[in-house]
Amino acid sequence: MAFTNSEVMNMKNILVSFIALAAVVLGMPARAALNVFACEPEWGALTQELAGERASVYYATTALQDPHRIEARPSLIARVRTADLVVCNGGDLEAAWLPLLLTQAGNAKVQPGSPGFFEAFQFVPKLDIPKVIDRSQGDIHPGGNPHIHMDPRNIARVAEALGERLLRIDPVNADTYRARAASFLERWRAALQRWEQQGAPLKGMPIVVYHKDMSYLINWLGLREAGSLEPKPGIPPTPSQLAELVQRMQREPAKVVVYSAYNDPRAAQFLSERARIPALMLPFTVGGTAAAKDLFGLFEDTLSRLLSAAK
Ligand SMILES: [Zn+2]
Repeated sequence: MAFTNSEVMNMKNILVSFIALAAVVLGMPARAALNVFACEPEWGALTQELAGERASVYYATTALQDPHRIEARPSLIARVRTADLVVCNGGDLEAAWLPLLLTQAGNAKVQPGSPGFFEAFQFVPKLDIPKVIDRSQGDIHPGGNPHIHMDPRNIARVAEALGERLLRIDPVNADTYRARAASFLERWRAALQRWEQQGAPLKGMPIVVYHKDMSYLINWLGLREAGSLEPKPGIPPTPSQLAELVQRMQREPAKVVVYSAYNDPRAAQFLSERARIPALMLPFTVGGTAAAKDLFGLFEDTLSRLLSAAK
């Protein structure tokens, strides 16, 4: 039996395709072990660092959304219903929407108190704990300021706790979680040292913030909060607050007015023009700027933006 040249070529092609297909099938990762529902981009990104392909992470919000004010949409409820693990900030940040999602989803695995419910806030030291709870003072959080993630030391604390949680709910893959957590923390601590050196010139720099969502960053770098565009936390900037700030900046100018990617930039621009201090957008979380594509990028970009304003 003889084959023509083109028949041989065809058979070769078929064989090559077969081998390629087999390689794809055999090399395919096992089905992602965990369905993770992450409330905010920073905690989704951290879960991804620690779980790799062992988790399929759904991000409930983006950097351009205000995490205090999210609508409990049916699509979010459906995601909570099929989740093995819910990773959120806690500390009241999601008080307006997460409890509703959890009740509507009716997924016993991820209810508060169960291993499938993880809140980062529990694992860090808190700032701004109010002495008196007075709601007339705006969005007052009785447990302290919830915006913990802009201190990279808190990211390390939460990473340790989240790593433990992953191996508890998915013990089959414990070795993977241990190895990934160790690798992440080693790289994170090296970066932290570098960032603290780079950030040293920022010590004492007066900044105006939009909302009290930069307090942990301010505390970490030793910046000075010289005012906020919101008259009270969670109350949008008002003309009288802005006028008062313009006056104050004339007496005691801040170096920069910062706002987060999810804030409306107009109030910051207004103050910037009137008081002649630069307005600076900070990514605030993963995805807030092109450079903040992961947690490392978030802090690198935040530092480089602040350093350029400090000059
Ligand atoms: Zn807030």
